[in-house]
Amino acid sequence: TTYFTDKVAVVTGAASGIGRALSVELARRGAHLAISDVDTAGLAETEALVAAHGGQVRASFLDVAQRELLVQYAEDVAEHFGRVNMVFNNAGIAYTGSVQEMAFKDLDRVMDVDFYGVANGTKVFLPHLIASGDGHVVNISSLFGILSVPSQSAYNAAKFAVRGFTEALRQEMILGGHPVKVTCVHPGGIKTNIARNAEQADSRNHDEIATSFDKLARTSPERAAQIILRAVEKGRARVLVGADAKVLDALV
Ligand code: NAD
Repeated sequence: TTYFTDKVAVVTGAASGIGRALSVELARRGAHLAISDVDTAGLAETEALVAAHGGQVRASFLDVAQRELLVQYAEDVAEHFGRVNMVFNNAGIAYTGSVQEMAFKDLDRVMDVDFYGVANGTKVFLPHLIASGDGHVVNISSLFGILSVPSQSAYNAAKFAVRGFTEALRQEMILGGHPVKVTCVHPGGIKTNIARNAEQADSRNHDEIATSFDKLARTSPERAAQIILRAVEKGRARVLVGADAKVLDALV
């Protein structure tokens, strides 16, 4: 058995990238999975990969930007599995463009998915996590939740907000004596669709920054998932994945 054996884990944005790798690694370690995404084709592939490990899996369409859907979803998962032990608020989108270029709707969309999706995802599952007696909230921020760069103002704002929200929650859980550990994850330079798209858009306008990010360590989503799960098991407050800490120091 492992730390994750028979735990019920919720992973949003599970159709690709880090979310898929986390789901598969959790299943490999004996967890039961509630996976969701807006991309139902990709989600079905993740479901098959997870099911191969023998645990229970429930795959659902979920747009984390829709608050009412999230409320219903939390009830559905709790009823189906009888408990919820871990929530990985991972779903996210990127937007690259200057403040001048960005439309109001671009800013709304990034905040709705990347910030409200995480905050509301945390809120709807929190009573179930507390009731489980050993809950974990794992929120995916970004290297850009620590460091601002040109053309990422909306994404920076959403990911800084995730960090602030998650740190406050961690303090509340400690002060309230609640059995919930809270971890904020800051990936950077993980080989996924989001990173590829952001990098391509970025290099059009900001050659210098794109070049410096090319030098970041390139980590696979599978490796990232292992690092994240180790930090979760230890109950760490935050974990930087992918980007080398020395590179971060140099950039800051
Ligand atoms: P990805 O694009 O491969 O995966 C993101 C997943 O989220 C996709 O399957 C997508 O369909 C899903 N998604 C998008 N909008 C959604 C919505 N409204 N509701 C539900 N699902 C939705 O990218 P990834 O790199 O695996 O991203 C996972 C998380 O990691 C994101 O929060 C991202 O911001 C964060 N992150 C990644 C990197 C990196 O280097 N790859 C760096 C920093 C942060």
